Amino acid sequence: MPLTPEQHAEIEAQRTAETPTRRATVPALEALLYQALPVLDHGFVRVIDYMGDDGAVVQAARVSYGRGTRRVSEDAGLIRYLMRHRHSTPFEMCEIKYHVKLPIFVARQWIRHRTANVNEYSARYSILDREFYLPAPENLAAQSSSNRQGRGQVLEGAEAAEVLDILRADATRTYDHYARMLNEDGADPARRGLARELARMNLTLNTYTQWYWKTDLHNLLNFLSLRADAHAQYEIRAYAEAMFETVRAWVPATFEAFRDYRLGAATLSAPMLAIVRRMLAGEAVEQQGSGLSKREWAELMEILARGPGQSHGQEPGP
Ligand SMILES: Cc1cc2nc3c(=O)[nH]c(=O)nc-3n(C[C@H](O)[C@H](O)[C@H](O)COP(=O)(O)OP(=O)(O)OC[C@H]3O[C@@H](n4cnc5c(N)ncnc54)[C@H](O)[C@@H]3O)c2cc1C
Repeated sequence: MPLTPEQHAEIEAQRTAETPTRRATVPALEALLYQALPVLDHGFVRVIDYMGDDGAVVQAARVSYGRGTRRVSEDAGLIRYLMRHRHSTPFEMCEIKYHVKLPIFVARQWIRHRTANVNEYSARYSILDREFYLPAPENLAAQSSSNRQGRGQVLEGAEAAEVLDILRADATRTYDHYARMLNEDGADPARRGLARELARMNLTLNTYTQWYWKTDLHNLLNFLSLRADAHAQYEIRAYAEAMFETVRAWVPATFEAFRDYRLGAATLSAPMLAIVRRMLAGEAVEQQGSGLSKREWAELMEILARGPGQSHGQEPGP
């Protein structure tokens, strides 16, 4: 269900109101503020508020009295140094608050990131919308044969159509039962209606929920590095990718450092590093006898073959 005219009007009213402030503001993020960036079929991410900018990271690192007179390139250099050496606390000085609409099964992955403040739409108090996530055909993939936590080839033809039918029919049926059990506004005067907190338990995990999610820049980057990674499930990755745009607008120097030293970077174990050194010295090294397991060897080869800017990650997840 798209945003209602009332919701659009509320967003527009907030977007046109301006408040003079002495605090740091970022024009590129101001331009995005409150806007719903669409994600998946009914979801969105919108920035509700933020505190700080690239300058705030630098100011905190220097514990300075003001914004100082140093050149932008010096500030960017300091940010890159901090990111490279994992000096995390200056990045914790910036905060951002999002409003996110997401399927419940994505919310379950997202909520594992504990270093955020969350307030979720109460389905004890309010009635959930009749909205379910149905994957686009290109995302309707089979179980991967090589990876228990991943996807393989895209389903096609009759099988794809049947899967979509099942997903749609089950979600619709459980929602219809939800509405029937609630008996809102005494639709059936002979029944009292089940409490909202109980009626919701029958809904499918692709039902959409919403929350406000606030975190600091350091932990946001941790979230993005894990969830924008190619190994993360597509559905949460779609949110992380939309959030990238907000971070790029908000703290461009930090974003660039993050891209270079985290997203596009790789960590090598001591044995891996020893193998790379042997290779650089001209030695032909094979997995057997390298001291690395087959899996570690494959990971090392993947890192060495990777093009610039391609990300990496941990295990594909639930
Ligand atoms: C691809 C992928 C696959 C996954 N697979 C699984 C899975 O199969 N099963 C599963 O259960 N989870 C899984 N997860 C979730 C994962 O294990 C983490 O729980 C999640 O990514 C949150 O990461 P985090 O702890 O770094 O983030 P946050 O919770 O935001 O924490 C950030 C950092 O703060 C510190 N911190 C926060 N809270 C504590 C604390 N209580 N004690 C100590 N330090 C703390 C830690 O240093 C942590 O790294 C998966 C995640 C990904 C990205």
